[in-house]
Amino acid sequence: MQKPSFLTAQEIVIWDKVEAGEPLTDEEALFLYHSRNLGLLGILATIVRERLHGKIAYYNRNFHIEPTNICIYECAFCSFARKPGEPGGWEYTPDEIESIAASYVGKGVTEVHIVGGVHPKRGIEYYADIIRRIKRILPGIHVKAFTAVELKVMCARSRMSYREGLSALKEAGLDSLPGGGAEIFHPEIRQQICATKASTEEWLEIHRTAHELGIPSNATMLYGHIEKYEHRIHHMRLLRELQAQTGGFNCFIPLKYRKENNALSYVGEVSIIEDLKNYAVSRLYLHNIPHLKAYWPMIGRHTAQISLSFGVDDLDGTIDDTTKIYSMAGAEEQHPVMTTQELEELIRSAGYVPQERDSLYRPIHTATVS
Ligand code: SF4
Repeated sequence: MQKPSFLTAQEIVIWDKVEAGEPLTDEEALFLYHSRNLGLLGILATIVRERLHGKIAYYNRNFHIEPTNICIYECAFCSFARKPGEPGGWEYTPDEIESIAASYVGKGVTEVHIVGGVHPKRGIEYYADIIRRIKRILPGIHVKAFTAVELKVMCARSRMSYREGLSALKEAGLDSLPGGGAEIFHPEIRQQICATKASTEEWLEIHRTAHELGIPSNATMLYGHIEKYEHRIHHMRLLRELQAQTGGFNCFIPLKYRKENNALSYVGEVSIIEDLKNYAVSRLYLHNIPHLKAYWPMIGRHTAQISLSFGVDDLDGTIDDTTKIYSMAGAEEQHPVMTTQELEELIRSAGYVPQERDSLYRPIHTATVS
């Protein structure tokens, strides 16, 4: 692409690095976060996005199981968790989870995403049993399950090391880890929003161990609350460094803080401009993580569509109204469900080519470009 003539000296340096595929420094990422030139951020992120994925935009056919929202922690941003006995709490039995899985037989789903509250009593054996039951009913399904925050406690409850706990879950059929629980790694912020749960070091260690065991994972970042740009860059730097060592992250998923029904409501929410800027800087800074996802139940389908022009290459999946985490926090999508036709139309009308993928980004079906 021709370099525009109106760029400043600093923008020219960054443009040249992006075109050469060189990693940006923290200072350059900070410069981009403070930039008011949203159009330029979109162009730069698109250079990287199209170098990696061309015009392809990925989606999958998935559903979620949230086994419980009973949780031992009280994260300030959380609208989902309940204490035992509190109204609005749920705890599915293994039989109920089997029934949920059974309702997807023959529906073409390729992935189940399982995350929930950190239950006070359930250990590795309980969750391994759930995975086995699901795989008996849906033998070909990819099980992407349990945040590092959940894994830390279930390993402790079963008196297992991370390696032993993850190995037992893998043996039961665990295929990959989702990226949740990362929030913001910087201690100044983590201390204020989720002081008691898995620390930054523990989150990174669990993902490192998973990668060493051949279990790939994703990574998230909860943005748009009390953190500053510097904290986001620190967060992404730790991910970039771990990725350089293990290569185990498939995808980065920025998660927008939503303000309803939680203890941080007073800080409000950031604008869509800020969301798009964050996608673009993420794509530019995390040069070694292949995929960037806009999780549409959190951001809304229309912002997700625009994000395809700000570095995003994946919109997640059909969901089928199976997650409550973001609807309880006030997201636009109160009953998130999209058919594959709707997802493909959303992608096509943004000028991209829809591609159904499996959980490891292997193509399942190539849609005809209209
Ligand atoms: S964010 Fe997760 S760990 Fe924190 S309170 Fe909510 S469910 Fe529990």
